[in-house]
Amino acid sequence: MARRLKILYVASEAHPHAKTGGLADVSGALPAALRKLGHDVRLILPKYKCVPSATIKPMGKKVPVLLGPTYQEAILFETIQPGPTYFIGHDPFFHRDGLYGSHGRDFPDNAERFIFFCRAVLETCKAISFQPDIIHCSDWQTGLVPAYLKSIYASEAFFKNTRSIFSIHNLGYAGNFPPQALHTAHLPWTLFHPKGVEFFGQFSFLKAGLVYADLLNTVSKKYSREILKPENGFGFEGILQHRRQDLFGVLNGVDEEAWNPADDPLIDHHFSARSLQKKQACKKDIAKSLSIELGRREPLLCMITRLSDQKGLDLIVQGFQDIMAERVGFILLGSGDARYEKFFKSQKYPNKFACRLGFDEKLAHRILAGSDILLMPSRYEPCGLTQMYGMRYGTVPVVRAVGGLADTVPPFNIRTGQGTGFNFRPFELKYFMTALRKALTAYQQPKTWRQLMLNGMSQDHGWEKVAGQYTRLYRRALRQK
Ligand code: ADP
Repeated sequence: MARRLKILYVASEAHPHAKTGGLADVSGALPAALRKLGHDVRLILPKYKCVPSATIKPMGKKVPVLLGPTYQEAILFETIQPGPTYFIGHDPFFHRDGLYGSHGRDFPDNAERFIFFCRAVLETCKAISFQPDIIHCSDWQTGLVPAYLKSIYASEAFFKNTRSIFSIHNLGYAGNFPPQALHTAHLPWTLFHPKGVEFFGQFSFLKAGLVYADLLNTVSKKYSREILKPENGFGFEGILQHRRQDLFGVLNGVDEEAWNPADDPLIDHHFSARSLQKKQACKKDIAKSLSIELGRREPLLCMITRLSDQKGLDLIVQGFQDIMAERVGFILLGSGDARYEKFFKSQKYPNKFACRLGFDEKLAHRILAGSDILLMPSRYEPCGLTQMYGMRYGTVPVVRAVGGLADTVPPFNIRTGQGTGFNFRPFELKYFMTALRKALTAYQQPKTWRQLMLNGMSQDHGWEKVAGQYTRLYRRALRQK
């Protein structure tokens, strides 16, 4: 029998503890799926203010972390629900509103916060005598872990057999800081060069992960190829090209228990591919509670999204009047860039458009369950989970054919009856509107629409298969010298 692996899953957010986006869904679900394969998986996160103290308990351990000129203490907490999870407590850094910033601005001490977190992760392993085979990191917040393993921890026998994997969930966030942060991190200056952690004169935490992890992966096949080119490489295409033999694309899964219209506790009416009627009740409910009035066979559009350029919101802004000129209702739930918040808040289309600003998990489920069409015109999309959730709830996605959106939403073909959504390619309003209008036309043909919904609802994006692919990746990393 294959050896059971000891895996430390390092993340800056994970559902149900702390969430700003899809990374949290993945960090919540993947460790659980790996555990089902028999691996010993521990998750480790910062102890943010939003982590309810009633759900965790102190471990009675403190870990000193060298940060700049002094040692600071990490206080360790843990929970076993929904799986073994450790929390790095340090209130001056983590006990505040927001995970990475507030009011659309990054916290000014993010370098110190995540240097502290990364180093505390490694010190915690030693303090609790957990010697991982694999440390799986994600995105810039955890990028220093591989750099530490390959530098100041390289001579420690404790980590001799540990290998690291770095997952790119979004290359658009580089975690760039002034070079002086190397002092704070106690990383050697010999790492500060273009083939190391230097990124155009800055110290990039993301690049630290890309350069020093034993293997790299990103969250869809298509995105793993897109990021090798300047258009989507954000300046990292050189290092990614250099490491392309070590770069893999493993499509994210969907937590099929948390996102199941047949028994989702966050929605009031349940439905499935076998019995779709109650979706109409969900539609009625959400429309009523957000004061949307819909005429006969009028579709409800939705977006549930971070309000950022990445998500193609400039296309929505540009085409807003065109969208509103159609016979549709439209609900937008999002938070992020102030200029988008301001734009959507100021729109006056009573009974036709409703905007809710903020992060609201329950509302997200209710909107997805009650809508007919989900819009995701992203500029780029590493994987995208919302379109997969949409399909599970019979909400047909209209997407830009990039990254994970291209890999998960095959376009509907009216002749064959195959496909699960509608897509467009050039990032221009006219192409987006053409795709949307195709969807609106299909919506007027009940049989066609039902087929589309069923096609989406029958897709298999479970985590079990994905966990198997990660296991193969971990074993490959362990074979690396
Ligand atoms: P990304 O990770 O790039 O933000 P994904 O589509 O992969 O995009 O994942 C987004 C996740 O965050 C989904 O679970 C989605 O439902 C959720 N989400 C995004 N914005 C909100 C919001 N304002 N309120 C509640 N959930 C949200």
